[in-house]
Amino acid sequence: MDLGLEGARVIVTGGSSGIGLATVRSLVEAGAFVATCARDDRRLADATSELDPARVLRACCDVEDAAACGRFVAEAAAYLGGIDGLVNNAGHGHFGRLADLSEETWRDELEGKIFAILNPLRAALPHLRSSRHPRIVNVSAVSAKEPDPELLAVSAARAAVSNLSRGLAAELVGDGILVNTVSLGVIATRRAHERHEHEAPDQPFEEWATGEVRRRRIPLGRLGEPEEVAVAILFFLSPFTTYCTGTTIEVAGGMNVAW
Ligand code: NDP
Repeated sequence: MDLGLEGARVIVTGGSSGIGLATVRSLVEAGAFVATCARDDRRLADATSELDPARVLRACCDVEDAAACGRFVAEAAAYLGGIDGLVNNAGHGHFGRLADLSEETWRDELEGKIFAILNPLRAALPHLRSSRHPRIVNVSAVSAKEPDPELLAVSAARAAVSNLSRGLAAELVGDGILVNTVSLGVIATRRAHERHEHEAPDQPFEEWATGEVRRRRIPLGRLGEPEEVAVAILFFLSPFTTYCTGTTIEVAGGMNVAW
């Protein structure tokens, strides 16, 4: 289906791997122009090297740094000629239960997840207000609803993100800006590999993944792929998606659903 994204001008944070990279690729395939960032600009350049440089702006930016976001968004708006969509995808998380997590880690997690959205959003708002079909998509996780004991701080921060997303949807509806969330289960990205390394470094990844599927009772019987998340993000970015705001699509293989 044509989602009407030909010529759309979109910022995707965290485009050097996993979900962000899959989203950038899907947007370019759909005919959009994209600006993307990550902290490691060399990895970002390598990861996106096959993409048309006339369609993709790459920048080094830490989304937790408000000033850096201001510079990145200004550069993106100038390159793209405006901004129609902002995908707040960049992020990482601290593994751990209560006993593993220091106060500093808690603060890092809670502040990081909130400002990773607020910083790009504040900088992008004036440009989004000038768009005919302005869209914001926030990437969150199903642990916002059902905390994962191995990711206690991440889960709490995700709950804040989901709440923030709905609050922003209500606040920005007057500007015609639609704000939605894509909420993830376990997706087979670098992050999943980091978790495997953390929890079971001696086990092959596939074996660990099978255990995750069993432990989490994922009805679809496997981990998700980044491209399966990108589909949901593009749906929310589409100018045809006109009657959704403050809502969430779960891309989680049916996790946490009572069957
Ligand atoms: P990856 O680690 O594969 O990709 C994360 C991307 O974000 C990288 O490009 C990374 O580049 C960038 N990034 C991280 N922190 C920052 C920062 N502070 N500023 C700018 N860029 C940053 O992870 P995923 O694709 O799996 O994750 C994407 C999002 O989905 C994240 O927010 C993650 O928390 C969330 N998520 C993922 C789940 C999963 O199962 N994979 C489950 C639930 C949520 P660099 O390190 O160079 O900055």
